[in-house]
Amino acid sequence: MALINEHYLKLQAGYLFPEIGRRVSEFITANPDKKVIKMGIGDVTKPLAPSVVKAFHEGVDEMANANTFKGYGPEQGYEFLRKAIAENSYQARGVNISADEIFISDGSKCDTGNIQEIFGHNNKIGICDPVYPVYADTTVMSGKTGTCQANGYYDGIIYMPCTEENNFIPELPTETPDLIFLCYPNNPTGTVASKEELKKWVDFAIANKSIILYDAAYEAFIQDEEIPHSIYEIEGAKSVAIEFRSFSKTAGFTGTRCAFTVIPEELFAYDSKGNAHQVKKLWNRRHSTKFNGVSYPVQKAAAAIFTEEGKKEVTEIIAYYLENAKIIKESLNKLDYKVYGGNDSPYVWAKTKNGLSSWGFFDKLLNEANVVGTPGSGFGPSGEGYFRFSAFAARENVLEAMERIKNLK
Ligand SMILES: *Cc1c(COP(=O)(O)O)cnc(C)c1O
Repeated sequence: MALINEHYLKLQAGYLFPEIGRRVSEFITANPDKKVIKMGIGDVTKPLAPSVVKAFHEGVDEMANANTFKGYGPEQGYEFLRKAIAENSYQARGVNISADEIFISDGSKCDTGNIQEIFGHNNKIGICDPVYPVYADTTVMSGKTGTCQANGYYDGIIYMPCTEENNFIPELPTETPDLIFLCYPNNPTGTVASKEELKKWVDFAIANKSIILYDAAYEAFIQDEEIPHSIYEIEGAKSVAIEFRSFSKTAGFTGTRCAFTVIPEELFAYDSKGNAHQVKKLWNRRHSTKFNGVSYPVQKAAAAIFTEEGKKEVTEIIAYYLENAKIIKESLNKLDYKVYGGNDSPYVWAKTKNGLSSWGFFDKLLNEANVVGTPGSGFGPSGEGYFRFSAFAARENVLEAMERIKNLK
């Protein structure tokens, strides 16, 4: 008899986006003449940049020619891409990360979920609340938690609330996590972490021999020059942090698929006898056993982001989304909503008014303004009473959505 992994049964049904989809299609069926504007799911809308498309085509042409055809590539990723990343995303910012410390993958969602596999079962996991749901769900799947409580917290996870009071940067927890997920610029709050705040976490990890799992998927949106783009800009971080980055939001690769994970040489974790082991070596073993590399044309396309043309084009696309975020933020501000994020991030985190719940505001917005956003409570209990607006929409839709919200009763 085949038995299932029963930890899956602990997962909460009615996952956020399916529930949004259900309510939206119900509304559309009942109101076929209404034009619904979607500012919900965090997916990009602009096409790939011209230089990316050109490199992508060239990659395909090489695969079509016997002289340039490529079979399996290196599991870790082609050196041309790893070198381009090391030079442009790290060394250019004074961060000493080498191509050998970079692993190319088909997405940060997979990497942030899969990474736990190389760490022991008895690790305590620290997760922000609210945050990208993947960290908690994959922790549950791996069997490190108990069941979900009525408040939405799983037993066994150390939750770190991110609220208005702490500026959406969690306080150091009283119980010490062994693995700590941090995500900045944050999804969903759109807020960023300063050098001082990250330093606090790096020092905490050093003192406790913990490891920070730093998700920097929105790094490219950072405008404020004081805000670090990488956790490795913090002294000592290379011995306590893994960084995840993705081309999904940076360069519109959500449907093309390419990301990378950085594991520095000097990052170690321990066995039960207290012996230190290089984490990079373990991940390399995992990656090369369970993964056969990202498609060559996709890696060619990703490398084009780092050419002079590519950089310029990608920066323009990001500027477009950031202008959307600014419009959303300013419009809501004028209507006396309290809003956060949106300066260095494509997300604007708005507090609902009159004590409306996140889903209450969702329904009001959908029914009365025909605008779809994301209820904050879907990202964790501390998101209750908040609402996430995504700036990944066409300008005219953002403007119209804001006009409709202005006319709400
Ligand atoms: C979109 C997103 C990612 C990127 O995931 P991919 O699998 O690379 O597309 C990672 N982390 C967060 C927080 C995100 O919002």
